[in-house]
Amino acid sequence: MTGFLAGLECTRCSDYYPGDTARAVCDCGSTLLVRYDLASVRKAVTPGDQLHIEVIPLRKGKIFKMKGEIKVDGNVVSSAEFLAGLAEKSKVQ
Ligand SMILES: [Zn+2]
Repeated sequence: MTGFLAGLECTRCSDYYPGDTARAVCDCGSTLLVRYDLASVRKAVTPGDQLHIEVIPLRKGKIFKMKGEIKVDGNVVSSAEFLAGLAEKSKVQ
């Protein structure tokens, strides 16, 4: 698991891939959503904390690679690297 990243879930068939899986699309060809272990996040962040979320592009192209960090008072409480692809809206179900 990377930070609080739990896994990747397919938007079409609901197949699930572990958080350490590096992939942008499901075996069925559909987009994957990032799922977070929110229970773990709650342990590190308390009510009233102000979250600073930063996403940095690492690679651009057909498949984007990005790194995200969440900080509270300058301390990183979660981070992850993830991939995202662009698809025409008419082709997304
Ligand atoms: Zn799928």
